[in-house]
Amino acid sequence: MSLSTPTTMLPAEEARGRRHFGQFSLRRRVLFSQLPLTISTILVVVAVLVFDPSVAVESPYLAIGFGGVMVLTLLAGTVPWQRLPAVVYWIIPLLDFVAIAPLWTAARYVLDGMVLLTAFPVFWLAWSGLYPLLALSLGFLGTAAVSWWPYLAGTTPFSDALMESSLTRPVMVPFMMLSLGAAASILTRSMDKQRVELRASLEKSKSQNRLLQAVVDTSDVGILVVDGQGHDILMNQAQRRTHFIGLPPGRNDGAEHELLLFEADGLTPIPPDERPVTQALQGRDYRGRIIAIGTDGSQQHLSVSASPMYDDDGQFDGTVVVFQNVTDLMDAIQTRERFVAEVSHEFRTPLTSIIGYLDLAMEEDLDPTLRQFLTTSQRNAERLLGLVTSLLDSAADSSKVTVQTVDLSRLTRYSVESAEVRARHSGLTLASDLPDQLLAKADPVKMGQVVDNLLSNAIKYTPGGGSITVSLRCLPGVDEKGDWVELAVEDTGFGMTDQERAKLFTNFYRTEHVRKAAIPGTGLGLAISQSFVRAHGGEILVASEKGAGSTFTVRVPIAGPAC
Ligand code: ADP
Repeated sequence: MSLSTPTTMLPAEEARGRRHFGQFSLRRRVLFSQLPLTISTILVVVAVLVFDPSVAVESPYLAIGFGGVMVLTLLAGTVPWQRLPAVVYWIIPLLDFVAIAPLWTAARYVLDGMVLLTAFPVFWLAWSGLYPLLALSLGFLGTAAVSWWPYLAGTTPFSDALMESSLTRPVMVPFMMLSLGAAASILTRSMDKQRVELRASLEKSKSQNRLLQAVVDTSDVGILVVDGQGHDILMNQAQRRTHFIGLPPGRNDGAEHELLLFEADGLTPIPPDERPVTQALQGRDYRGRIIAIGTDGSQQHLSVSASPMYDDDGQFDGTVVVFQNVTDLMDAIQTRERFVAEVSHEFRTPLTSIIGYLDLAMEEDLDPTLRQFLTTSQRNAERLLGLVTSLLDSAADSSKVTVQTVDLSRLTRYSVESAEVRARHSGLTLASDLPDQLLAKADPVKMGQVVDNLLSNAIKYTPGGGSITVSLRCLPGVDEKGDWVELAVEDTGFGMTDQERAKLFTNFYRTEHVRKAAIPGTGLGLAISQSFVRAHGGEILVASEKGAGSTFTVRVPIAGPAC
């Protein structure tokens, strides 16, 4: 295989082809592999000329060896090796042995350790990574040939060799070089393996990176990943578009801190230390924070979530911030709320008038049948007004409560008394367990609505024969928020499943059983109650079992002495 076709190479072959100076062409790599021997040869010749110039004059071997190495160096640098099969460049290290032999013969008595010149071609062959066994054998044979050359060429009588301890040299040196070559070959192979593995894992990580980039770019959700130092690591296309919307008018580029960001109302600028990315960089973990970006017609609403990342030592290592464009949703919610508020208001005025005139008519001395008709009309008109009021409440800003010190015991007692007639008509027992007085920090109107709603539900959703218990108590607080006033409305009614319970506070939600039984209702009461209670800083909880009954518990902050 030609080394000039890297795209078709297998990883191992590629690693071998790029053994020396991997970034250079093969021709240069062959030249660079030859150069150490060339330089050493020049040094040898210079040393010989300095210490014993007669060697150069008396024997042609020094000139032959030197010339050979130089010619081989020239060939190494000029032959277009990349066009030839890879193994062909071995010709250079093999011929190096031929050039080293006369050099050694000539200079071995002047310079010690000359035979070590053979280490260069031995290493080169071993490092090439091609045909390791053949390379080792050739290195061994080349070194042996060089070591024995003076005896074979007759420049040193064989008898001398036997007499001298120098016989150890021609015998030992090839084996030493064989060991060195083997070590180099093993090292090469293990480096090859590592390089191949490294390359494979690099490829894998590159392809995973490409996959990740494609996935995040396909997403409509803006994704921003920032490292622990605040540098952007990843920003997908959706986020780039969002970033553009937030730039000050007339700007095409800008940093995150320059973006025009507002609270959900679209008007209040977000203070610098409360900006979503700033908070995410402080390691905050949050979900669904609604903000507005940009101004005027191009303003968009975003739901922002952030998740911090930690390294193995648990140190903050960056954050992932996700921006979901919720403009359409916000527009739809606003439109719906406006529509509900306007329509409810339009209904309320004529309904109040109808009920007023029905009240007046009922004061007259009426025929019993007519009174019956008017009573039914009045009940339905009131039901309709209740419905319209609920719709208005759900559209109104429920976060506005006017808190004062309220005797919740009195307020509850009043609601229980009002509900007694309805409970009796439905065949239910209504009991209450209320202290003489229990003060809470509450809005009396809103809390009255909450208690009425829970009582009305308990009556509506408990079959005849059942019972309802309303109780009120002081609940010691577990944290710095202080003590609570806890109201519980318990019934033995239909109850509900856990799945139904999870959706209970959603606008317009009604359980299947209640819908099928056509019990009147809007599915708004609990949603409104929950928003009222939350506006007090309190909470509303439900425990229920299908077929066994439910307990609704409301907690609001206490106003009187602690429990
Ligand atoms: P509405 O009573 O007008 O339907 P709510 O928001 O007050 O609306 O209640 C929502 C739904 O929760 C009801 O329709 C009913 O299915 C269920 N629910 C509420 N209170 C009870 C209760 N005490 N027992 C059983 N189900 C209840």
